Amino acid sequence: MKLLKVFIEHQLMQLNNPFDYLYDSDKPIYKGVRVLVDFHGQKIIGFVSDVIDIDNSNNFPYQIKPILQLIDESPLINEELFELAYWMSKNTISPIISCLNAMLPPSLKPKSNFKNKVMVNYVNVVDHQLKEKYPGLYLIKDFKAIVGQYKYNKYKKDGLIEIVEKEKKADVSELVIKPSDLTLTHQQAEAINLIEKTDKQVILLHGLTGSGKTEVFLRICQKVLLEGKQVLVLVPEISLTTMMVKRFKERFNSIAIYTSALSSQEKYEQYCLVKENKVKIVVGTRSAVFMPFTNLGLIVMDEEHDNSYKQDNTPRYNTKDIAIQRVKYHNCKLLLASATPTLESYARAIKNVYQLVSLTERINKTMPIAHLVDMSKQIRQGDYIISKPLKQAIGQRLANNQQVILLLNRRGYNPIVKCSNCSEVVRCPHCDIALSYHKDENRLVCHVCGYSTLFDISCKKCGSKMWTNYGVGTQRLSEEISKLYPDSKIVRMDTDTTRNKNSHQQILTDFENHKYDIMVGTQMIAKGLDFPNVTLVGIFNADGPLARNDYRSVETTFDLIVQASGRSGRSDKQGEVFIQAYDVNHYGIRLAVKQDYIAFFNNEMSYRHALKYPPYSYLVAICFLSEDESLANENCNNCFDYFDNNESFIVLGPSCLNKLRDQFRYRIVLKATDKEKMIEEVWKWYQSQQYNRNKLNIQIDVDPYILD
Ligand code: ADP
Ligand code: ZN
Ligand code: ZN
Repeated sequence: MKLLKVFIEHQLMQLNNPFDYLYDSDKPIYKGVRVLVDFHGQKIIGFVSDVIDIDNSNNFPYQIKPILQLIDESPLINEELFELAYWMSKNTISPIISCLNAMLPPSLKPKSNFKNKVMVNYVNVVDHQLKEKYPGLYLIKDFKAIVGQYKYNKYKKDGLIEIVEKEKKADVSELVIKPSDLTLTHQQAEAINLIEKTDKQVILLHGLTGSGKTEVFLRICQKVLLEGKQVLVLVPEISLTTMMVKRFKERFNSIAIYTSALSSQEKYEQYCLVKENKVKIVVGTRSAVFMPFTNLGLIVMDEEHDNSYKQDNTPRYNTKDIAIQRVKYHNCKLLLASATPTLESYARAIKNVYQLVSLTERINKTMPIAHLVDMSKQIRQGDYIISKPLKQAIGQRLANNQQVILLLNRRGYNPIVKCSNCSEVVRCPHCDIALSYHKDENRLVCHVCGYSTLFDISCKKCGSKMWTNYGVGTQRLSEEISKLYPDSKIVRMDTDTTRNKNSHQQILTDFENHKYDIMVGTQMIAKGLDFPNVTLVGIFNADGPLARNDYRSVETTFDLIVQASGRSGRSDKQGEVFIQAYDVNHYGIRLAVKQDYIAFFNNEMSYRHALKYPPYSYLVAICFLSEDESLANENCNNCFDYFDNNESFIVLGPSCLNKLRDQFRYRIVLKATDKEKMIEEVWKWYQSQQYNRNKLNIQIDVDPYILD
């Protein structure tokens, strides 16, 4: 007889307390398997966190129920990942069950319906003589293709072959490394040398866009693979997975890919490849950091500054923190790479907490020539969307058969629709934000919750049906460009055009093969892309993100401009960039135009220092959400009072945020210098909260990335 400690996800569940169940069977059971249990009359899937041998259940002062069913034969989570889940729970102030959930592919998540495995039929040759010719297992169609339908039928009839059913698994070939024929530059060789020699576990590879960072980590990966160890390469977005996978596949034939674009079954198959150690390289986005490696030799985190590395629902982990835990366990290195590292990372690097490795020259030794365009002047001359100099430059590129990238970080046609009669702005009925007009579908769309409605509405306030549309989105920009250059081929890349599974890849490949002259897109085209024929980049509304008014908004504005500029002139042709903005004297814009990261770092750090923002402090945001506004407001006020009495914190707020998805939101932000103590105090507060989870939701965000 065994006593099981079982984590379950339930509204009534007390945070992080496992429940007791009995197990009385000869089948072995392990920590890390799923079980079906009865919880207050409900059948729920739980996760076994401990197995304790006992004599007899009668010794317990309360009655313990047996489990209903054992789901997995072997543990889903190994010791390392179990420890990591505890660590993550503690440090992100989230329930352990949510951490276990985040670590597993959808079909293995504790709360998922343990769906049946997908099975596939194979041909197995039973006849000895024939087996020599056809060893192994074959998919039926493959076998038929080899021997022909007639023989297949005959073999089957004569019992020379049998059909066996096996679980569907992804296929991979043995790893073969194809060495590169590039000669490393002096700086690259030095960088590799330093990365290998340093005894620091975390390395920051800071290099200009186009300075050959990717080549550096391809070489480092190669060495690690030759030692027989596994490599994880993290990229921030799906569009970058395409690029990275392409470059890795040129060198290494056998890799696993793990991104949110995969179906549950595909994720499961890729996961198994790693778990069964059949593949040594994984390229993936955020959640790939939880792959069940057993012999990890390196983690690369490309574009380490990117905010998509931060998970935006519970558990709100930062991928970098998880990666650091993993390299500690595996005693290997974490290589962070970026042209615009977060201030936190760069500060750690110059304080020698991380090893700093710099690439200060582009491979082609030339930076693109950057022009800052003052749009208020352009507007006075009648050019509202595309400035004269940019128009000229586009025309020139088209004449020279070169390609152009245009970045506008707003999808749709117009971001704002106003009543022509009373000026009322059309807002989402569920969120407190303006609806965007999408001309392709003639709909108004909420970019937060996805709500949409046909654009034949009348004004809620005055009943008028006359509307004026304001602002420019990528749809509108594409239209303007095609009017100006009717013979050019234009492709748009944003969330709307990349909903289909392989559309990212398709667009990028087509653009690379010059099926298009101009690519118009949102921030998803700003970084990582390496197209040698692109010699012109235009950035629209470059200072737009400054309006967000959050402590990191200057940093993200700077990053976006520098990254986007870096797409231009990466090969042998001189590149050019036009940066259209209104606030042309802002230091963030000016330094981005000069691509001067170090000056920006010093400048921005002095502001952060003055205001005691990270990296000079740590933040925890606590947000209260409810359909009942007063409930959210009151709870937030109480929370403010609770922490305001504590001398080790500065408490910002409470602030009322936009309503989102019918939820009113109130938030406070805690600021402190001792992170560990802050986490401890917030846990204490959180565990003391008694509230109805159906009516109120409390979201805790440790080290919030965006605070708008
Ligand atoms: P980053 O990752 O820093 O933006 P990449 O690694 O993409 O830079 O390099 C920019 C371009 O230069 C790529 O097309 C790459 O193939 C090429 N490149 C990198 N290293 C070398 C080298 N040593 N010799 C020649 N070309 C190189
Ligand atoms: Zn009106
Ligand atoms: Zn909405």
